[in-house]
Amino acid sequence: MSIILKHGNLINGAGVVVPDATVVIDGALISAVGEAGQVETPPGDHKTIDVTGMTIMPGMMDLHDHLHGDASGTLDGAARDRFGEMIYLIEDRDAYQAVLHAENARKALAAGFTTIRDTGSPRDITIDIARAERDGILTAPRIIYCATLDMTHPPGKKQVHGVAGGNITGPIEAVRAVREKVGLGADWIHLRATGAAAGQFDANTELMSLEEMEAAAKTAHNFGLRVTCNACGANGMKNAILAGVDCIEHGTHIGQDDEVIQMMVDRAIGWVPTLWVSLAKKEDAEAKQALGLKSTVPDYWLQRELELIDLWRDGFEKALQAGVLIAIGTDSGAPFVEHGQNAKELEIFVRYGMSEMDAIEAATRVAAQVLGMEDRLGTIETGKEADIIVVNADPLADIRVLQDNDKIALVLKAGNIVVDRLDGPRGLLH
Ligand SMILES: [Zn+2]
Repeated sequence: MSIILKHGNLINGAGVVVPDATVVIDGALISAVGEAGQVETPPGDHKTIDVTGMTIMPGMMDLHDHLHGDASGTLDGAARDRFGEMIYLIEDRDAYQAVLHAENARKALAAGFTTIRDTGSPRDITIDIARAERDGILTAPRIIYCATLDMTHPPGKKQVHGVAGGNITGPIEAVRAVREKVGLGADWIHLRATGAAAGQFDANTELMSLEEMEAAAKTAHNFGLRVTCNACGANGMKNAILAGVDCIEHGTHIGQDDEVIQMMVDRAIGWVPTLWVSLAKKEDAEAKQALGLKSTVPDYWLQRELELIDLWRDGFEKALQAGVLIAIGTDSGAPFVEHGQNAKELEIFVRYGMSEMDAIEAATRVAAQVLGMEDRLGTIETGKEADIIVVNADPLADIRVLQDNDKIALVLKAGNIVVDRLDGPRGLLH
């Protein structure tokens, strides 16, 4: 049976706005799209949905998510077990983790995100969550999983977010670790070029060498996997680019080296900045301070985050000006970055100078391009897969409406209605 969306204001993800648009969905695909009156009603059974006054746009994508994170201010992912004892993600049993992953994925879908890329989960549990989604036994966004490779840590040292990666020392071990991740079913390989705001090492500390990253990237590409890389300091970013990565995460110091920006433009390398992650900690610290309380983020970490905010903004403005492929990613699951509030990042992009239309495309068409899935996803065009949301507001007038889940009236994934709030919020997915 076809689904026909009628009388909506269409933002197609490719720069086009069509008032009073009709979109016809046949099975998993978009079979026709255009102005009312120019699109023929297909023969056979169909369900027509009148979305007058609402916006039809592509399902959004979050390219930097951590399905295991609980977004609390409790650090190291610490939680309590049924006896009230503190436990850590590394020690959690897999079944508990799987339920947490599934619940967080559901929140992203309910917020209008039909595709997420997970940039690291403990013991690569997200590989199985993604499989459950593909097998149709879990209602969730499409999930692209990046398996993490990291430098060898001393025994007992916890890594950021509790993500124990494939630890390596040297190029030969990089090849071995990538092949293991390929065997497990990873979609991407995720490297750590430098330290960051969080953790033992700072942005200018290089965690993996050029040779290690080159070996990892070459092996991943050989198996058809893309490669992304946490890189904050400019030298680390440059090493990652020279090693052949396809995407950079965070890139906090991108504005400090024009050559890095030019290399990214020339090679069409994606950038997923995750800007909200520092601002969220700042806002939390300020709110706590107003109540006479102290942030739960350790001093050294909070200090690094606060120092990054202006630097990062400056880099974003330069990269935007230069034409870097910038995509939405949130680091959801990190402290104070809540699952289901993924659209917050679009607000920051607009606050930092991107137009509302371009911010929507950073979450749709450009994100699909960074994933290498632009032939299937990211725009509302004939032949594309029907990942579509209907918003009961105009995000071009105020981008913040996308954060209000009650305004996300419909979510379709591959032509199936997976969230329906047209008659008000109801049901499990809310
Ligand atoms: Zn992350």
